[in-house]
Parts: sequence; C-alpha cells; structure tokens
Amino acid sequence: MTTIILKPHKEESLLRFHPWVFSGAIARVILDAGHKGDAPEEGELVCVQSSTSNVLGVGHWQVGSIAVRILSFGTDALPADFWHTRIRAAYKVRESLGLVRKDNNTFRLVHGEGDNLPGLIVDIYADTAVVQAHSVGMHVCRKEIADAILATVQQVQNIYYKSDDTLPFKAPVTGDKIGWLVRDTEIPESRDTEEFWSIENGLSFRIDWLRGQKTGFFIDQRENRALVERYAQGKDVLNMFCYTGGFSLYALRGGAKTVDSVDVSQKAIDLVNINVAKNFPKAKNHTAVAADAFEYLSAQKSAGKTYDLIILDPPAFAKHRDAVKNALRGYQRINAKAIEMIRPGGILFTFSCSQAVDKEAFRLAVFSAAAQVGRSVRILHQLHQPQDHPINIYHPEGEYLKGLVLYVE
Ligand code: SAH
Repeated sequence: MTTIILKPHKEESLLRFHPWVFSGAIARVILDAGHKGDAPEEGELVCVQSSTSNVLGVGHWQVGSIAVRILSFGTDALPADFWHTRIRAAYKVRESLGLVRKDNNTFRLVHGEGDNLPGLIVDIYADTAVVQAHSVGMHVCRKEIADAILATVQQVQNIYYKSDDTLPFKAPVTGDKIGWLVRDTEIPESRDTEEFWSIENGLSFRIDWLRGQKTGFFIDQRENRALVERYAQGKDVLNMFCYTGGFSLYALRGGAKTVDSVDVSQKAIDLVNINVAKNFPKAKNHTAVAADAFEYLSAQKSAGKTYDLIILDPPAFAKHRDAVKNALRGYQRINAKAIEMIRPGGILFTFSCSQAVDKEAFRLAVFSAAAQVGRSVRILHQLHQPQDHPINIYHPEGEYLKGLVLYVE
C-alpha cells in the first residue's frame, strides 16, 4: 500500500480522530512497489504515518486540499469485513433510535463522517437504498458497500447509485456514476414512478430518486416536521420551499385550517399534489403553487394575505465560505418578508442548511429581519439535524442544519 508520511507534529489532529489529512500536512509520499504513475491515484487506499513512522490509519486518497479521508485509525490495513462492520454499526444505531418500524421505513442509514464513513451517504426508502459517494474512494468501493447494505438492512431489495452530482468535478472515475447496483428483476420500472411509497411517521411519500434533488427526499427535516404537526391545529399555514410537501403533510395531519405549499419547481409541486392526494384524499384545504419565494411573498403581501404559521426551508444560500455574507443578506430578506405576513401571535419555523453559516450568524440574520419589519419575536425552539444525521464530535464540520421556531408578537 502507498504510504503517506506527515510533517512533524501534523499527526495531532489524527490522534484526536479528526478524519481528514490536509495536503499541506504531507511531507512525503512513498508509492507502493509497482505503482503506476508518479502519484497515488484518486480513490486509492493509503496508509498514513507520522514523521516518526507511527502508523496513524488508512484512508482514501483524494486530489485537493483534503488529501486523505481516514476510514480506520491506528491500523495499516482495512479488515476484510470492514464494510459489513461499519454498515451494521450504523444500522444498529437507527434501530435503537426506533427509526426502523412498520410506520417508518424512511431513514438515513449512513451520514458520512458522522457514521465513520467519510464521503458516503446512504438513504433508505422502503425497499430501496439510495447511495451517494462524495469521494472517489467511496465510488471505487460501491459494490462492497452495496453488498454490506443488502446483507444488513432486511427491508432493502434494491440499491440505486446516484453520484453524478456529488463526485469531485474533474475526478477521473471508471464505471457509471448513476444507475442500479442491485435491482429486484420482478419489479417493473413503472413501479418507481407510479406505485412506490416510502413511509415517514405514518405518512406516505412518493420519492423520486431518479430526478429528485439529493437522494430524492429531505429526511433531515423529519423531527422538525413532527413539531409543525403539534403547532398546526386550526392554523392557516404557508409551507415555503416545500419541495415534495413534507411539512405540508404533517400540518394537514395536525389539523391545519388551510395549507399553502410553494416551490419554484413544478416537478416538486406535482409531487406535493400526489402526496397530499395519497394521504388526505378528501382534503379541500390544500393548495400548491409553483412560484419564486420572493415574488410569491411580495404578491401575497400586496393582496393583503396573512398567515398564522409560516415555514421557511430554503436551499443552502451559502455553498462555500466566501458566499456567507451574501447568504446572510438572503436569509434576512426572506425572513423579513415572511415575518411581515405573520398575524400577531403567529409562528415562524425558519431554517438554514448552509454548513458555512453558523447558528449565531443565522440567528442574528433572523433577528435583524424581525427588527427591520418592526416585529418583536421570541425563540420557542432551537432546531437542528435529527439523530440519523449524527455529528462526529471529532468532525464538527458535520453540523449543518439549524432552525428557529419564533413566536411573533
Ligand atoms: N422543506 C422541504 C425541503 C426544501 S429543499 C422538505 O421538507 O422536503 C429547498 C427547496 O427550495 C427545493 O425544493 C427548491 O426547488 C426550492 N427553491 C429553490 N429556490 C427557490 C425559490 N427562489 N423560490 C421557491 N422555491 C425555491
């Protein structure tokens, strides 16, 4: 195996189990005998050693500022049952959290660093697992990963691989970045778009992993959606950035008087309507509109419309650190527009999924928005990502979702 020797003292973060080696920490690379080329290949398994030749761990080599993502600490080889052991450990956590139930077959099985599998995401939807590789190393291992999922998660019979958007942009990969890794041949293709339902807390959702965003659904809002259900009774609700209607279904089940779902994507709106019809076939109090959030709120305000409860769950406004300033301006703008439309005594659920925007900065942006439109607000809940999106304490960068529930005077 190729060996990576670190500069003196650069082993410290690895000794604290931080799973990344930055390229600037590397002193030398000793290629495996018979290695082709003059550098490790992206995705290759390498052994990392300190400047004094202490073995620190093995991981996947990457081209870029993160040079190695460690899979196993304190060893110079991966055990043969590595994938089965890690996937089994991840599954056990989900089982012990009570997420594997008849009325809940939707959960995240693997959350990258949070499950000690850096660069790997696996979401489970009923009998189908959707696997996403964020590193070439995970791409190279996709078949072993699929075998381990199939052997571990009883409900899974199909495994779809969807890494066309997540693998490093110019990475030279062999093999398809998208397609079935495992498919039950008895199931016709039409099943996925016409009869497929995944259940979250007793609510059925059509998941479009083929064309949908990310792996097809935002499992990370499950607990926050359940909280909306508790607040919804008798309220006029606006679910802005609704995607396939997650928050809307919980609000309807919670007894909302009316629910308006808004998303810029017509495809998402079509799925909202399918999901509402499936769960509440008689509902006459739901409308779904394809529109831009800013334009919709401006138009509704001009028409004098108000709401008791608004949910704002926008896409990440800051995808990188250098975009944070603009993102905060965006959060302030959208929150000001929403707060203006909330009736006195109403509630705002507001979120940011930008990893680069921290809790404090987000809170300040939301408070500035309230001040800007002259409304007094109080925090009722501070929200975050759920248990099946765990944060590795040695890798705090894994924390990304934050939310506030505000009481608007
Ligand atoms: N709340 C959703 C997830 C939201 S993801 C859930 O629980 O599943 C963010 C959504 O914002 C996406 O569906 C995207 O289509 C939508 N979006 C992005 N830009 C938008 C805009 N300018 N106006 C309205 N919706 C937008």
